[in-house]
Amino acid sequence: MGKRGTAVGGGRKGAETGVAKGRKASPGSAQITRARCGKKAPARARPRVRIDILTLFPGILDSAFSHSLLAKAREKGLIDIRVHDIREEAEGRHRVADDAPYGGGDGMVMKPEPVVRSIEKARGDDGHVVLLSPAGALLDQARVRRLAARPHLVIVCGRYGGVDERVSRLAVDEEISIGDYVLGGGEPAAIVVVDAVARLVPGVVGNEASTLADSFEDGLLEHPQYTRPAVYRGLRVPEALLSGNHAEVERWRRRQSLSRTRTRRPDLLAKAKLSDEDRRNLGEMAREDAAPEGGPGQGMVYKKPRPPRPGASGKR
Ligand code: SAM
Repeated sequence: MGKRGTAVGGGRKGAETGVAKGRKASPGSAQITRARCGKKAPARARPRVRIDILTLFPGILDSAFSHSLLAKAREKGLIDIRVHDIREEAEGRHRVADDAPYGGGDGMVMKPEPVVRSIEKARGDDGHVVLLSPAGALLDQARVRRLAARPHLVIVCGRYGGVDERVSRLAVDEEISIGDYVLGGGEPAAIVVVDAVARLVPGVVGNEASTLADSFEDGLLEHPQYTRPAVYRGLRVPEALLSGNHAEVERWRRRQSLSRTRTRRPDLLAKAKLSDEDRRNLGEMAREDAAPEGGPGQGMVYKKPRPPRPGASGKR
């Protein structure tokens, strides 16, 4: 690993780091431009969250955090993301970081020494160490929220057949899986974790209240969203949203949220925080579904309706 890792997006060589001393890498061009104009750059507070990512393939992550919301968050100094090459902690001329598995079998296993050394260098006093693994606890919004409340995360990306188990025993606080499937490596999972965590860091999303309305925050899926035009290819935005009546909009959204969760993710509904009115609405949806005439209610098995294609004759 380089002495203090590389602040992504700020150039790999000579990236200025050293947050602990109050200095900060320059992740985007805005600050550089101001400094060159001779104006004093605004003093920056210590980033709210620091994230160190340990990987054998830093190149995969190089541009991942340099766009859109994450780039702005780093520019504003809200998040400090650094990527470290585990291989730099491997020994020997070839810096080999993997070896054959004891007991035989296909594939290689990441050696414990370089990974543990990388963790020990990156975690400092306050680093919470996360190992990405299909065998970890499933990532959900509640877990993301807990991670976002920590000042410093160290995320370890595995590769090959995985990481020697002793790494987890010796240096990891938590193992996380992003889903019940197997990736070729932890890097895409690290991008998922960082992106989800960053949205919850105060100041990153312009209107913080909007993150509370997102899917999963109250245990439900979010309602459908629409923007202009009011009619698109024959599909009209629901009347309630065009009404200008705030209470009506809120009622419609809540009902849609309940209905979507009920049809697409009934498992979530069982654990969601529901009001008496929510329960009444759900009861109504169930009755609509059970009604013999008038066709299926909104809460039937989820199947996306396909609008007719313009110019399609209906024949194949
Ligand atoms: N042999 C391992 C197993 O069956 O559990 C899979 C190893 S996988 C090919 C290599 C690395 O990708 C893992 O060590 C882990 O860091 C990462 N990875 C793969 N799937 C993941 C998932 N669903 N969530 C988080 N990380 C994952």
